[in-house]
Amino acid sequence: MSTVIASSEDVQHPGPQTQERGQRAVFCGLTSIIWLHRRIQDAFFLVVGSRTCAHLIQSAAGVMIFAEPRFATAILGERDLAGMADCHEELDRVVSELIARRSGINRLFLVGSCPSEVIKLDLETAAAKLQTKHENRVRISAFSGSGIETTFTQGEDECLKSTVAELPVLEASKQNLIVLGTVSDIVEDQFRRLFDDLGIKDVHFYPGRKAGDLPAVGKGTRVIAAQPFVGETARALIGRGAELISAPFPLGAEGSKAWFEAVAATYGVDAERTQQVLEMPYQRAKRAVSVHRSKLEGKRIHLLPDSQLEIPMARFLSEECGLGINEIGTPFHDQLVMRGELARLPKEVPIVEGQDLDPALSRVRASRPDLTVCGMGIANALESEGLRTKWSIELVFSPVQGFDQAGDLAGLFAKPLARQEILEVGSWS
Ligand code: SF4
Repeated sequence: MSTVIASSEDVQHPGPQTQERGQRAVFCGLTSIIWLHRRIQDAFFLVVGSRTCAHLIQSAAGVMIFAEPRFATAILGERDLAGMADCHEELDRVVSELIARRSGINRLFLVGSCPSEVIKLDLETAAAKLQTKHENRVRISAFSGSGIETTFTQGEDECLKSTVAELPVLEASKQNLIVLGTVSDIVEDQFRRLFDDLGIKDVHFYPGRKAGDLPAVGKGTRVIAAQPFVGETARALIGRGAELISAPFPLGAEGSKAWFEAVAATYGVDAERTQQVLEMPYQRAKRAVSVHRSKLEGKRIHLLPDSQLEIPMARFLSEECGLGINEIGTPFHDQLVMRGELARLPKEVPIVEGQDLDPALSRVRASRPDLTVCGMGIANALESEGLRTKWSIELVFSPVQGFDQAGDLAGLFAKPLARQEILEVGSWS
């Protein structure tokens, strides 16, 4: 039984030609808490980990830590790690205190880390037990954000997957659409308006703004991914009867148009009506991107692995901004959700899955691209060698999806090149 609604285009690019394993410079999945807690406004994320995990979240959250954020770390002490304390009792106490202190929390996620995994602390069982105790107050579940199991955005996939079993069953006669992956509130509003104009009803964003916004799922459910790192959740939804619509991701004018067109075609919306609805925002997006095109056209870009957004970003930059692509690195490649992207990517572009840091950096140094998209741990080092960089984390935190953000997205990549000219940075190196 096919659970994927195939794209009309043939897949041209085969996917990663090379796999690399070795030293990595990437975040662990805990980092996804930073944007997930902003998106799900009544959820709390309790990391069960070490001081290292607490430091990571504090550093990644930046100034957000001063705004009474809805995340914290239950730090495993020496006694816990040595097996002398009953971790479940400790967790029970911490969770009870937290629930008593923070009213307005409707969902608690226990988030596993490397230390909790290494001592085999079973957080799923702990969550089930705590749920029984706090049944009327809060929903409790668990997922892993550990560096052993997850890379950066995969934390969101684990988080969403952990709630799929709770989704209500869709009535047999009904149809609905799930837009999968975190988008900002402003992007959700824009997308809802366009779905309305296309006559597509019963659209759910998952995750939604409230933890209780759980879409029903069943045979009449169609899923479209708004982010490339939600493959496991998509599979879990397919397992519950949903069909996945294959499309490129809604980045840039072309990506957004193809994304909406794929949904509209699946719903049997008249092609003329689809064009009418999309034409204005599409033209607006094209104009906004063209403002930055002169800065970007003809330049070469190299993307190091970080968030799984690398392939759609590279497609947008080559297709709409005229950049040449040196190499695309991705921490993990999921063929299921990436089919629509690969169909639009030039066949010869090298894609490397995984990372071995030293050889990866040697390739950057040898080819000296005009722009390297990389993590913050690498960026300043490359800048000091006269190479321009773009911090990849910004692509996850900024609202970049949809027609109205296409210009801003191109602007993110044009900025380091414009700064180079203004400051004449690199002229000394
Ligand atoms: S989960 Fe693992 S990789 Fe992430 S901060 Fe904690 S110890 Fe480090």
